[in-house]
Amino acid sequence: MRRISIFGATGSIGQSTIDLIDRDRESYEVEVLTGGRNIDQLAKDARRLNAKLAVTADETRLDDLRTALAGSGVEVAAGRIALTEAASRPVDWFMSAIVGAAGLEPGLRALEQGAVLALANKESMVCAGGLMLRTAKAHNTRILPVDSEHSAVFQALLGEDITSVEKVTITASGGAFRDWPIEDLVKATPQQAATHPNWDMGQRITIDSASMFNKALELIETKEFFDLKPSQVETVVHPESMIHALVGYRDGAYLAHMGAPDMRHAIGYALHYPERRDLPVARMDLVALGQLTFRKPCEIRWPALRQAREVMEAGGLMGAVFNAAKERALDAFIDERILFPQMAEVVDTVLTRLSAQAGHNTAEITLDKVAEADHLARQSADAVIAENT
Ligand code: NDP
Repeated sequence: MRRISIFGATGSIGQSTIDLIDRDRESYEVEVLTGGRNIDQLAKDARRLNAKLAVTADETRLDDLRTALAGSGVEVAAGRIALTEAASRPVDWFMSAIVGAAGLEPGLRALEQGAVLALANKESMVCAGGLMLRTAKAHNTRILPVDSEHSAVFQALLGEDITSVEKVTITASGGAFRDWPIEDLVKATPQQAATHPNWDMGQRITIDSASMFNKALELIETKEFFDLKPSQVETVVHPESMIHALVGYRDGAYLAHMGAPDMRHAIGYALHYPERRDLPVARMDLVALGQLTFRKPCEIRWPALRQAREVMEAGGLMGAVFNAAKERALDAFIDERILFPQMAEVVDTVLTRLSAQAGHNTAEITLDKVAEADHLARQSADAVIAENT
């Protein structure tokens, strides 16, 4: 029996994880499930999977959760502190699938108690990659990537020497507005941005795919996770989303990872690592696929890619600043307070304003320093958004 916790259980990654666990229920003991506002889903899964504890991040929903789980024997808790405490409960395997910077601290706590961390929450690596890797090492455990591109890179690196790597290429579908005329992007609505051509994902990451903020975060995550130089990391647009990443080696060989766009592959790989087990994902039909295409991404259409390079070069806490500014700009776009292209403008202004402040380029990243940078960047982004509305 493996003891597991799923943080962000009510979301897209969380539900796909539960789908895999459900197929082999006898092998797992569920310690903690967490959610945010979706109390019905959290309670339903906590009952069915016989979880020991269910936590909602939303303190105002504790009574709702308690009522929904009455008589089930599942403990309940609510709020950020409860979430962090729940992450400290010993388990063998921990899925980090909260969206946003809120996923960082629970993931760190999980590493501190020695769990294998299946990391979907890319923001953790963007904000504090060094801290995450140091914590895993100090507690003799490991982080397994769940982002499909990073799982692909991880798999293409197996048995290889990282010093023989010349370049890592992660692919990008291009999102909802890949083929729109650039001048029409001012008219893009949150509903249109939240429709992905290939992947079925949560609302925020889907909009981030359309703006390529998601790919920008993933470029930074790649650099941090595999300890590469910014110049060794790149993206290409690949509309079919069948190749997830390629690792180019010094002898001119490229090892590519391919598969149908279904997150249950990367989740299942992290769940069963180092074994490969049967997974319920579609098999590829190369003949039906016919061809795979690639394009150079345009940084005028997707300024987030230029920003990712700047952030990688700056290092230090700029990843945390970038992510926080992006999160606030995304909130403002979803609330229709700013237009789609203004998200990148907000982030540009925040990066410029905060890079001038001392203390942001420190290499010694701690959770407190990340929290402070995150707070300053959110304040700065809110001010920029207010100036523009
Ligand atoms: P969703 O929005 O579908 O789910 C997010 C989860 O986090 C939900 O359980 C949500 O609760 C919970 N949540 C939201 N805000 C908070 C908060 N402040 N504190 C605690 N919990 C919170 O996201 P996804 O599943 O799409 O993505 C999760 C993470 O995985 C992200 O970092 C994303 O970038 C990454 N990822 C996702 C992929 C995908 O295919 N979806 C692919 C690769 C990476 P509730 O819904 O109950 O409010």
